[in-house]
Amino acid sequence: MRKRVLVTGGAGFLGSHLCERLLQDGCDVICADNFFTGDKQNIVHLLDNPYFELLRHDVTFPLYVEVDEIYNLACPASPIHYQFDPVQTTKTSVVGAINMLGLAKRTKAKILQASTSEVYGDPEIHPQTEEYRGSVNPIGIRACYDEGKRCAETLFFDYYRQHGVDIKVMRIFNTYGPRMNPNDGRVVSNFIVQALRHEDITMFGDGNQSRSFCYVDDLIDGMVALMGSRDGFCGPVNIGNPDEFTMLELAQKVIELTGSKSNITFHPLPQDDPLQRQPDISLAIKELQWQPSIKLEEGLKKSIEYFKGVID
Ligand code: NAD
Ligand code: UDP
Repeated sequence: MRKRVLVTGGAGFLGSHLCERLLQDGCDVICADNFFTGDKQNIVHLLDNPYFELLRHDVTFPLYVEVDEIYNLACPASPIHYQFDPVQTTKTSVVGAINMLGLAKRTKAKILQASTSEVYGDPEIHPQTEEYRGSVNPIGIRACYDEGKRCAETLFFDYYRQHGVDIKVMRIFNTYGPRMNPNDGRVVSNFIVQALRHEDITMFGDGNQSRSFCYVDDLIDGMVALMGSRDGFCGPVNIGNPDEFTMLELAQKVIELTGSKSNITFHPLPQDDPLQRQPDISLAIKELQWQPSIKLEEGLKKSIEYFKGVID
């Protein structure tokens, strides 16, 4: 029998790639999304597949379906979107986790949480290992997302200890690729769209802050590997690409690859914007035999091709 898999946030950037991958792997996929940042366009090509089902559903409300596995991705991921309605963002992470964990408990499904490197906040250790407990401002403008995700991790581990729910917690580091919303506000999509339109590249701060960018295909391989990992391995596990770049390096690479005439303009660094971020992926290599293989330049080229097709 086909495995029945629920993907919350399945119409979003990562969720749509995951749904596609699970269908290829022979699963029966239910995609639940409230379309806050997701788009039907991301999954329209899957709608003809009899093993794909789309539900318009908000995870802050209970969901009654029968499934074997749950990937809980529902949550806006871009700072401009998660700060748009911060109360709803925390609710999505916390109440959404309670609802999906309740579903996992009732159906005895295995459940994976899309957590984030943001649980480390503005990190004081570099690179970040899973043991590091983080440095998050609990009352800042990023807290609705960071603390929501931290609380979701707490709930996952309490459902594991208290109710024996089979959990997997994944800490995702900055991931990019086709199907990011062109208006998403995250740095890779912003810079590519600006460069293709020959508009100014909006650099926040002096551009010396760093991030480590993972291409979406690598990330999805890691996610599926974690769901299939040995019994009793719950994580949390970092999944990301350790190749680290400053935002200035990223902008220069995007300008070069697009042949853009754009200039870089400098703007104030948003509050609590982390200065550096790089995953230590030793645990993923050991437990999942996973590591990324797509270099930034190759991933950027694929992303640029995608954005050329979707912007005017
Ligand atoms: P995205 O914004 O493209 O996708 C999120 C999806 O969740 C959207 O389709 C949105 O409509 C949906 N959603 C939001 N609130 C919902 C709700 N209450 N009920 C149902 N659906 C809801 O973002 P993404 O990059 O695909 O991120 C997916 C997940 O991965 C998120 O949980 C995010 O926190 C996590 N993550 C992503 C990254 C990254 O770099 N892409 C990094 C760390 C963590
Ligand atoms: N950033 C930028 N210009 C933009 C968008 C983002 O310089 O137009 C910077 C942002 O301040 C941060 C980095 O790029 O330092 C990554 O931002 P993003 O929103 O993509 O992800 P996050 O901060 O959550 O890692």
